[in-house]
Amino acid sequence: VGLSTTGDIISHAIARNFGIGAFNVIGIEHAEAIVAGAEQVRAPVLLQLSENTIRFHFGQLAPIGLACLAIARSSTVAVSVHLDHATSVELCHEAQALGITSLMFDGSTLPYDRNVAETMQVASWGHARGMWMEAELGEIGGKAGVHVPGARTNPDQAVKFVEQTRVDALAVAIGTSHAMLERSAKLDLALLARLRDAVPVPLVMHGSSGVTDDDLGNAVRAGMVKINVGTQLNQVFVGAVRTALDGTDSVDPRVFMAPGRDAISSTVGRILVAIGADTDL
Ligand SMILES: [Zn+2]
Repeated sequence: VGLSTTGDIISHAIARNFGIGAFNVIGIEHAEAIVAGAEQVRAPVLLQLSENTIRFHFGQLAPIGLACLAIARSSTVAVSVHLDHATSVELCHEAQALGITSLMFDGSTLPYDRNVAETMQVASWGHARGMWMEAELGEIGGKAGVHVPGARTNPDQAVKFVEQTRVDALAVAIGTSHAMLERSAKLDLALLARLRDAVPVPLVMHGSSGVTDDDLGNAVRAGMVKINVGTQLNQVFVGAVRTALDGTDSVDPRVFMAPGRDAISSTVGRILVAIGADTDL
């Protein structure tokens, strides 16, 4: 328990057939809340920092990254820290130097051949340092990546991409998209089953905020391993903050941050139960 590596947490989940929740951190309260939620249901969890969030922190990875690592270290469940949607190779290097053990390199906006070449290079750099490397397959010649509405991953292309890049996990599109405010995604579970049978590495679902709890469970049973959630946490956080602010004239931020944090914790716990996460790590 405490700070773990993403590789170990994912291997454990695969061995026991459950999903791993990977939750996006914005500020330190998010990280505290996510780990508290995981502790409530005794499940391992991933704290994710996106390149966009680093940009929000004035482009500085270290302050929020070290906070996440410290929160992971003092946790009573296994927690790892993951760099999400990295497009900057320098940021990948900085994450590794800080003690972050996994990342998703996002070359989805690059032309296919360049995505393969750059992902292969970053993956081989990461593997030499014991990191767990996730990547994303963009649409051929496309600009928007695979996490837009209507995008679907082609199984043959996915197999080829994993063979060429040697990544440890692949983000695939089966009906979710980023930043969904309603849980109305229609998952293509038949496509997921084909991807699971064809692709030799764990699959990652981005945009999982748009998926009902039932379908989160269905996706894990059909082969999805890493479940990325960001938007839904921000929705419940802001909702709770708004309610708290409506009920007070206090200027103490703790008065509204505490209920926001609690709302994230209970959402994380609920999602981890939905994806069947269990303990013993
Ligand atoms: Zn994503």
